[in-house]
Amino acid sequence: MFNLTMNGKQHLLLDRRKFLSVAAGLVAAGVIPKSALALAAPYSFKQGAYDITVVSDGTLMLPLSIVALDARPEDVKALLGAMVQGEQAQFEASPLLLKSGSDVILMDTGSGAGFQPSSGKLVESLKAAGTEAGAITKVIFTHAHPDHLWGTLGADGKPIFANASFHVAETEWNFWVAPDLAGKMPKDMEGMVKTTQSQLAGIKDKVAMFKPGAEVLPGINVLDTAGHTPGHVSFELAGGEGLIIPADAITNPFVFFAHPDWKFGFDADHDTAIANRKKLLDMAATGKKKLLGYHWPYPGLGMAEAKDGAYVYVPVS
Ligand SMILES: [Zn+2]
Repeated sequence: MFNLTMNGKQHLLLDRRKFLSVAAGLVAAGVIPKSALALAAPYSFKQGAYDITVVSDGTLMLPLSIVALDARPEDVKALLGAMVQGEQAQFEASPLLLKSGSDVILMDTGSGAGFQPSSGKLVESLKAAGTEAGAITKVIFTHAHPDHLWGTLGADGKPIFANASFHVAETEWNFWVAPDLAGKMPKDMEGMVKTTQSQLAGIKDKVAMFKPGAEVLPGINVLDTAGHTPGHVSFELAGGEGLIIPADAITNPFVFFAHPDWKFGFDADHDTAIANRKKLLDMAATGKKKLLGYHWPYPGLGMAEAKDGAYVYVPVS
């Protein structure tokens, strides 16, 4: 099974290389901007009533020490394999574009400008997928961390997705907009909280709240996966056996399928995060549901197979 995983990864790398050589020709011909070269090609498939395209906000570097707090660095390195660069690992950040009827839906907005130089490319990636920011009718958030939310407002302080309504879990919204939040957080997180609050303030007149256990849109169920943040949600899309969008309940398939009870450094409440991660993995493995991960090796589509009390990641391409 390890070999199958490795083959899956090599296959994806080859696809990306092929894309880059085609893209280089398009840049030379002036068809696409040079900056688009670093982005993964949009990846499309159908799920129930939705045409889904995985778009890319670019990549993020994460210190290995954050990935799994209670694991030995050499074990984390071995699991992450080709993602490792020195003492860091390169994670993808892949929002989703979903189309059904007249709805053009974006799931998470990426990190925007100024977070990490390798991220904030969503608008460019949407263009490569043939969609202008103004065409988005609804934006749905999994949670309000910078790499999922800070791409919401432009430099002018107005929503980049000017014609969209914004859909957020009520618990998540209430947690982040609390006026006394910055004072309750560690000092080095104050700036992050303030930027998040200004992003949320910029959409407050266009926001709709939802709760876990209901559908946010027809065929898109909201799953309570609190722990990473207080109101973090995952989604399950109808169609076939179902498709689970775990978001940051499972930030990496190699590490957290093999060790679902390791502590991810950016989880706010480890015990709740671990319990909900295990629930999602069990649901996926038992129901043979596909999973699509925001930070997983692009495009992030795979299955979970139960093995020896943990899970094996089987990429789907
Ligand atoms: Zn994230």
